[in-house]
Amino acid sequence: MAEHTMPDPVVHVTDIQELARDLVVIPNRQVQLVPNIGIIGGRDSVLVVETGMGSGNAEKVLEFAAGYAKGRRLFLTTTHFHPEHAFGAQTFAGEATFLINQAQAEDLKVKGPGYIDMFKGLGEPVARQLEGVTLAQPDVVYEQSYDLDLGGRVVRLRATGRAHSKGDQVVRVPDADVLFTGDLAEAGQFAIFPWFPPYDTDVSGTRWLSVMRRLAAEGAEVVVPGHGEVGGPQLLADVRDYLRLLRDETWIRRDSAVSERTIIDEVSALMIERHPDWAGRDWIEKGVGCLCSEHPA
Ligand SMILES: [Zn+2]
Repeated sequence: MAEHTMPDPVVHVTDIQELARDLVVIPNRQVQLVPNIGIIGGRDSVLVVETGMGSGNAEKVLEFAAGYAKGRRLFLTTTHFHPEHAFGAQTFAGEATFLINQAQAEDLKVKGPGYIDMFKGLGEPVARQLEGVTLAQPDVVYEQSYDLDLGGRVVRLRATGRAHSKGDQVVRVPDADVLFTGDLAEAGQFAIFPWFPPYDTDVSGTRWLSVMRRLAAEGAEVVVPGHGEVGGPQLLADVRDYLRLLRDETWIRRDSAVSERTIIDEVSALMIERHPDWAGRDWIEKGVGCLCSEHPA
């Protein structure tokens, strides 16, 4: 990975945002490797979406969720297996029912251990959060879709198929028209392509684009991205349009046999010009690399 000085990926349980009745988000406050975390309540149960990275963060999230639940039963789900989203799930064992899609459970089991090592290499603050992490086993695993009845409120969990990772899922709360996208959508930054050949090549730009087309078409009044500020339906359209442009500009150059280095330089310049205020510019290069590999030869 690139030489980043990673900030301490600490979840701060402050500035809680109420998005609808009995539905709040612990915002990531623009801190890298901290996700937006959702708490969705019903009459009988409360669903937590994402854990934060490692036990220390997850303990804070669990403490907040338990206080919020006031005796209601706790469920936990994660949008995908990446460390800041799911590597705190072990802390919820015995306290919450951990429920995820099959493909994500597979990712967690197969790729989880390698990701602990890889992320520990990102610097001391990250390594500290991951100290002693053991990967959780889900209590309930579903194939494509699961409707979780919290009591007077049904939450729809849907596996999207491979996109940002093999096992992405989205969480929709129909009565409030809120959608949790995980890292399928980011606000104020370039799409995160975890493209690290030969170690990890699961991300697919073309499949991700199809997923975003579908999500943008379905819409949602409130969109909670994996990272960055909570927004509206435009957020889904923005990611879709970015991915489409990234694919088109990459493939046009690939068609005329331009070298990958040149494609990266030209496409990066173009994307930065288009989105000068977006963070995470290093992810453009990863995206181009991924889409080059998906170019129909
Ligand atoms: Zn991710």
